[in-house]
Amino acid sequence: MDLFEYQARDLFEKHGVPVLAAEVVTDAADAAAAAERVGADSGGVVVVKAQVKVGGRGKAGGVKLAKTPQEATEAAEAILGMDIKGHTVNAVMIAQGAKIAEEYYFSLLLDRANRSLLAMCSKEGGMDIETLAEERPEALARVAVDANTGIDDVTARRILTEAGFETSDVDAIAPALVRLWDVYKGEDATLVEVNPLVKTEDGTVLALDGKVTLDANADFRHEGHADLADTEAADPLEAKAAALGLNYVKLDGNVGIIGNGAGLVMSTLDVVAYAGEEHTAGAATPANFLDIGGGASAEVMANGLDVILGDEQVKSVFVNVFGGITSCDAVANGIVSALQMLGDDATKPLVVRLDGNNVEEGRRILAEAAHPLVTIEATMDGAARRAAELAAN
Ligand code: GDP
Ligand code: MN
Repeated sequence: MDLFEYQARDLFEKHGVPVLAAEVVTDAADAAAAAERVGADSGGVVVVKAQVKVGGRGKAGGVKLAKTPQEATEAAEAILGMDIKGHTVNAVMIAQGAKIAEEYYFSLLLDRANRSLLAMCSKEGGMDIETLAEERPEALARVAVDANTGIDDVTARRILTEAGFETSDVDAIAPALVRLWDVYKGEDATLVEVNPLVKTEDGTVLALDGKVTLDANADFRHEGHADLADTEAADPLEAKAAALGLNYVKLDGNVGIIGNGAGLVMSTLDVVAYAGEEHTAGAATPANFLDIGGGASAEVMANGLDVILGDEQVKSVFVNVFGGITSCDAVANGIVSALQMLGDDATKPLVVRLDGNNVEEGRRILAEAAHPLVTIEATMDGAARRAAELAAN
């Protein structure tokens, strides 16, 4: 889960990373009062910043300096409602102004290819880091970080020295890097990025813009993380599926897909995409990913079907199950009771392919139920073709 800047700022503060005072407002009418509080120690100077989960806000006009509460109101009026790269600004952060002397870059991320953590650091921050990495890679230090030791004082100094900082700056910045490691580890992040990390005119080091990605797999051990989710922006079907505990990803096609096991579901997406190309000239494509897991009970099947049938774009549903520990007869009974539970809410044709443990009995149960919406297909390819054709017509 990617966080908004203000959420990253709050996590930084919690772990002792130096940040400036800030408040979030969603209504420009509240901007002046917030600016007065936040700017109390900076001669009234504040920065009004668009809160959208996309970079380059500064260039897009989403970051404005305001010297008076009146200017803060005007800036908030200008920025709220703005569209930045397809993201509508619903909130602005009003932050205490800083007298910036130098802008640096720091990030710590999960380097999957090298199975380690990677710290990146540069004396040339503020700008777009992808551009820097491409045009002047020598200006961006890359230091592998052992996840077991993380960034202690020694490692922080090594990173900063590799980035070319002078000793006095290394002394000043190293503690902030150690604190940023506390954020990374303590919050189970997969990315912590600060751009810019600044030195002010009086030599203070501050994290002025933060980007944090949290590992959703660790949510169970962070009570507060659920509150960080941007429920407004979440796809309503994905939100519903998440509430039901389903592994669901919305795609933009018209063939709903349910399977048991992530690998099988991914293959099913491929097979449906292929069948759609081959037999419907691309008119049928997968509408979602939905893995109902190993022990697919009738209730889980009903929940899955309910979510998929709630997708207006869905024209047909492909249920692809390989019976393992949960045998095909159990799954077939699950499908039959799921359809009973859904009653009139089940409105779209279902193509079912069962194979594996006790498949004969499973197919018999479905045949006997003879639900008008259900078609049984013997093979995965045949079922994909059938589902694609039903969706395309
Ligand atoms: P981004 O463009 O989305 O990455 O937004 P940033 O938060 O990084 O802000 C962009 C730029 O605005 C920074 O690189 C700074 O140059 C400038 N900026 C941000 N906060 C302040 C501040 O408090 N004072 C001053 N003078 N400039 C700021
Ligand atoms: Mn930035």
